Amino acid sequence: MRLCSWFSAAFEVALPSICLNCDDPLPAGDPGFCMRCWDRLTPVTDPTCPRCGSSTDVRNQSCLSCVSHPPCHSGLVVWGEYGGELRNAIIALKHHTHDELAEPLAQRLCDRILAEHWDPSPEFVTAVPSHPLYRLRRGYSASELVATAIARRLCLPSCQALSRRDLGRQARRSRAQRTAMAGKAFGRRRAARKLNGRSVLLIDDVTTTGTTMHRASRSLLQAGAGSVYCAALARTPDSRRMQ
Ligand SMILES: [Zn+2]
Ligand SMILES: [Zn+2]
Repeated sequence: MRLCSWFSAAFEVALPSICLNCDDPLPAGDPGFCMRCWDRLTPVTDPTCPRCGSSTDVRNQSCLSCVSHPPCHSGLVVWGEYGGELRNAIIALKHHTHDELAEPLAQRLCDRILAEHWDPSPEFVTAVPSHPLYRLRRGYSASELVATAIARRLCLPSCQALSRRDLGRQARRSRAQRTAMAGKAFGRRRAARKLNGRSVLLIDDVTTTGTTMHRASRSLLQAGAGSVYCAALARTPDSRRMQ
């Protein structure tokens, strides 16, 4: 064990755990948040479009945008709005190496996915890949951790089928260059051969405009997936879905 790891382990034993959200003492074995803070996380309950996940007036009815221009993915669900305790939990998971939060967050998203009764039901789980530099800095990918936990709960195989290409500084590129590179945002890993006509569940942590999910779905379909369903832990409140 390296010296810094030894000190870290020693501090964990010496100091009581505290809730990452409210600093209250945490019972041994509780993951990250106290029960009171977990209870403050609330799911989206308003009607949403089953194709793109945006808010609609009528439950289970596709929005006008999806009717006129159907997205390439067959469905998209989000668990909650990106704010409050859910935002704090996702930031702690993504940026502060609290990987213990992946399982309780995955449990919530898994319940949302099961309520959707997709047909054909997903047969394979994968995640929107993180950029290699982010992964190197954090030591893991938050979306992959959540995808693995969901696959375990659904008793489905999982692996990373896509890779993220380095797109560099987008601000320095012209609009035409950015549009041309958008189609190359994701590469294909050897594991993509396993897709082979299967119905794939694609997991991400946060979705903003839906653009990343859309591009990753298209890459999975080009790699041989039969259909793609998307699920994210949270959406930004002012999300605009890309069609
Ligand atoms: Zn708390
Ligand atoms: Zn829609």
